[in-house]
Amino acid sequence: MEQRIREIIQDSDMVLVGIGEEFEGVRQLKQIPEYVRLIEEAEATGKDWMIPAINRYFADREIKKGQDAFAQIPNVLAGLAELLQDKNYFMVTVTTNDYVWDAGFKEGRVVAPCGGSRKKQCAGGKDCEVPPQPISQKEWEQLQGEISNRIDKIQESNVCEMDYINNCPQCNRPMVLNNIFAENYDERGYLDTWQIYTKWLQGTLNRKLCILELGVGMQYPSVIRFPFEKIGYFNQKANFIRVNKNLYQLTEELKEKGISISENAVDWLTSLC
Ligand SMILES: [Zn+2]
Repeated sequence: MEQRIREIIQDSDMVLVGIGEEFEGVRQLKQIPEYVRLIEEAEATGKDWMIPAINRYFADREIKKGQDAFAQIPNVLAGLAELLQDKNYFMVTVTTNDYVWDAGFKEGRVVAPCGGSRKKQCAGGKDCEVPPQPISQKEWEQLQGEISNRIDKIQESNVCEMDYINNCPQCNRPMVLNNIFAENYDERGYLDTWQIYTKWLQGTLNRKLCILELGVGMQYPSVIRFPFEKIGYFNQKANFIRVNKNLYQLTEELKEKGISISENAVDWLTSLC
């Protein structure tokens, strides 16, 4: 089957890739008690926007410890970037751990509508004139330090809040990380790339299109799952490949041009790349 799929990719003019929840590794993260405590604390104090940074912190820590289950995620993404390097592709991800940005995908060919930890935004969201902007290396280190401090103090029973990044130069509200967990998520952080993506999609009609939907669940079905099904249905020359451990079923319309693989997409990519 892997060989067949490599052939489909090679044979296609364009490749549309969707990366989903299976690439967050949250199921494994939840096995770590300190992680669970920190997430609970972030939610209890209205700092939900810290969730992607906490996820990334713990995943990186496990990778440093030599935990293969976590190292697999950045590794298979790098493998996928290599497999697709000569193809005309576009990738949409609902992940927020930012591993896609270090995997070597082509500049401007990845869009992450759920955001992550790479940009900060005003807590006022789009009500404020100041659009999301990249966080500096220093600010990233500060956030990491903040998380590390909280882990050290986790034994204390009182809830202690993590600090904000800094304040908005325009309205003085706090700056928070630009992701879907923020109370007023500012979508200006990704809309430029989204416009490029929709233009790219228009060019797929009547082309041999390979749709590779990897580990996408039902958390944000309107971002990848439903639109990909629609694109696959309307494109006469499309191949639709869905890989997911539990939600692998194909709709009736896609059964003929679709391949469904019931396996965790991270594991499956290990054998493909
Ligand atoms: Zn502001």
